[in-house]
Amino acid sequence: MKPAKFDYVLPATLDAAIEALVASNGEGKVLAGGQSLLPLLNFRMARPAVLVDLNGIKGLSYIEERGDRIAIGALTRHRDLEHSPLVASRLPVMSAAMRHVAHLAIRNRGTIGGSLSHADPAAELPMLSAFYDARISVQGPAGRRTIAAEEFFVDALTNCLEPSEIVVEIEFPVLDHDGWAFEEVARRFGDFALASIAVSVRRAQSGLKDARIAVMGVADTPLRLREAEQELVAMELNDRTPDRFSEIVVSKVSPNDDLHASAAYRRHLLAQLSRRALKTALAATERAP
Ligand SMILES: Cc1cc2nc3c(=O)[nH]c(=O)nc-3n(C[C@H](O)[C@H](O)[C@H](O)COP(=O)(O)OP(=O)(O)OC[C@H]3O[C@@H](n4cnc5c(N)ncnc54)[C@H](O)[C@@H]3O)c2cc1C
Repeated sequence: MKPAKFDYVLPATLDAAIEALVASNGEGKVLAGGQSLLPLLNFRMARPAVLVDLNGIKGLSYIEERGDRIAIGALTRHRDLEHSPLVASRLPVMSAAMRHVAHLAIRNRGTIGGSLSHADPAAELPMLSAFYDARISVQGPAGRRTIAAEEFFVDALTNCLEPSEIVVEIEFPVLDHDGWAFEEVARRFGDFALASIAVSVRRAQSGLKDARIAVMGVADTPLRLREAEQELVAMELNDRTPDRFSEIVVSKVSPNDDLHASAAYRRHLLAQLSRRALKTALAATERAP
């Protein structure tokens, strides 16, 4: 299929991009890597009157350390995140997850701002932003504001952006953890996840003093499982902990049946992945200095 007719603009500044969106009266769409938008145009599931291409704006692609945070520009490609030594050392869970994002050609073009804005419930970067408690900076005609990742994702493929707002930067806090794991199952490597979990833990004298858990593919948005985090920290660590943990994680989600998998299968996958992830994270704490 071919897209419906549209106008195309390539602004050189963020202000000009916002002006073009405002002038389109809600009929404009931002183009970043095009890896999700172009298929939607070709299938005529999206019919914008004007495409506002961000690729002419300098200074939207960067990965920077700012104290205990890593700031990432919206136009940063998936491949840059996958190969960044800074991401590997400061955001290791993201680093491990990036090679699961689609296929090489798509990672070369796809951007973090595009992935978050597209808000696919089975996409890694939205889930990682919930996991890390990322802050998403957006700019529009009313100026700049910052949105917590958990508030950004409203529903499947739906974010909370106002018309004419553009994602410009995402800040990820560096986590203090002794062990972590990222687990995912997809039909083929690089496909969207059927289920996935990220876990990180901090060890105390006995048990854990902190835990972080996020899942995807099992709800309409990525989920940070705060209750499960508290329950994990309250648990005694023994041979039965991973099994109990997987029961707790699965009890917090209610996936739907869909074309790709039944709800029961997604729950089954999540149970297996949760058990495996916690074992990996706990084993790493044994090796932590
Ligand atoms: C075959 C295939 C497999 C894939 N598998 C995976 C996968 O396993 N995991 C995964 O995470 N992703 C996957 N993707 C999606 C891929 O990661 C996309 O790159 C990503 O979802 C969108 O990023 P983009 O930069 O290409 O955005 P675009 O396609 O350019 O835009 C996507 C949407 O976001 C909006 N948008 C883009 N940038 C901004 C911005 N800065 N501010 C506001 N709105 C913006 C656009 O208007 C559009 O609505 C897959 C894609 C394909 C085609």
